Amino acid sequence: MSAPGYPAFGTNGIRSTLDGITPDFIVKICASFATWSSAKQVLVARDTRTTGELVEGAVASGLLWGGAQPVLLGVLPTPAVEYLSKKRGVPSIIITSSHNPPEWVALKFNDEKGVALTKERGREIENIYESRAWKTSTWDRIPKIIRDELAINEYKQVLKKECKNALKEIKVIIDCGNGTAGKIAPYVFKELGAKVITLNAQEDGFFPGRNSEPTEQNVGDLIGAVKTMKADLGIAYDGDGDRLALVDDKGNYVLGDKVFAIAVDIILNEMEGDVVTTVATSNIIRDIAAKHGRKVKYVKVGAPYIAEEMEKGGYATGGEEVGGIIWPNAHPGKDGILSSIKITEYLASTGKKLSEIVDALPKYENVKIKIPFGNERFGLIRRMQEEFKEREDAITIDGVRIDFEDGWCIARASGTENYVRVFGEAKTKERAEQLVNFMKDEIEKYKLG
Ligand code: MG
Repeated sequence: MSAPGYPAFGTNGIRSTLDGITPDFIVKICASFATWSSAKQVLVARDTRTTGELVEGAVASGLLWGGAQPVLLGVLPTPAVEYLSKKRGVPSIIITSSHNPPEWVALKFNDEKGVALTKERGREIENIYESRAWKTSTWDRIPKIIRDELAINEYKQVLKKECKNALKEIKVIIDCGNGTAGKIAPYVFKELGAKVITLNAQEDGFFPGRNSEPTEQNVGDLIGAVKTMKADLGIAYDGDGDRLALVDDKGNYVLGDKVFAIAVDIILNEMEGDVVTTVATSNIIRDIAAKHGRKVKYVKVGAPYIAEEMEKGGYATGGEEVGGIIWPNAHPGKDGILSSIKITEYLASTGKKLSEIVDALPKYENVKIKIPFGNERFGLIRRMQEEFKEREDAITIDGVRIDFEDGWCIARASGTENYVRVFGEAKTKERAEQLVNFMKDEIEKYKLG
């Protein structure tokens, strides 16, 4: 794998810092996107980062050059843009680096159905960029920029429509992490009847309140607030609002895969169809699906692969183990805000405590290790995939996952770091450790080719 000399498409768009994603590059890649999609209009939104307006200007310029009309939506959560793309049948570019540190810059691209572009579809745009084959508007045919900062209200309506019951009697603390969720989540919860207390709800690209990834270490203030104010739950979003973490009524942090599992249980009560997730997801999801008589379809790691698979139809939901869940009635992207509303609605309508719901989930232990490898890690994984691809207990679409009666393990080559990552999950720590050791032995066998 040789680097192309510019920030290429990864698992979800293009990501770097301003030194890598320069305004010059942004103009050209966006002109290439306009050429690729041949859409008349492209929606453009940004998160709360300090680089937002600079990047937005370059994106708009590139779209104009490539002959598409930019519709500037201002600061919006990622799921709002995916909803608007689908509703209007217009592709979109989201300027957001999600949960990354404040200096990061990234572009996410969606097609006219609101489905995020995979690395493979991104490659088609890179081909246009590399061969400098983007369209160039002549002086007399340059489209006009449209500004539509009220579009957020359309998304707000869909959030309220998806919530069938009032959230009254629920006391919720919402930590927006100075990201885009602050623009909408607290207001919608309030309008739905909840008692709302906010943390870090003001937009601030320096993220002074906390880092934008809602990990347990980062949401200490939220945990403390839930305990002292005796709230029913705490909600923390990532920087662009497409995923969430929860804090239960006892002040315990609820990991992303458990949040995903709770959401799947709620959705499968309401909808027909199977569940899509990545090969790296806990068996909790498989167990919940089985409880409802449904199956799990595994795809490669990366939210766009989940959205792409769901577009084929027959699925009730999809999501990632980090707490990103798709509610296909609304739109095809992960939606942290809608997830938080649906889970809170479930608490309000059943009278159950979040801690009880978490306690009732299947329990698993896991072990993670990383083994140092240079670029030969890609060849190693390919050889293993060749060997395992015919086996019924193996999934080889992304790394090598092997399922056992009582657990599973996976080996994947890191895309950016010199490691092969091995993960094992089982009912006990010892068994998870054994599964990781089994995979380590397999790696040893295929090391030399
Ligand atoms: Mg995100």
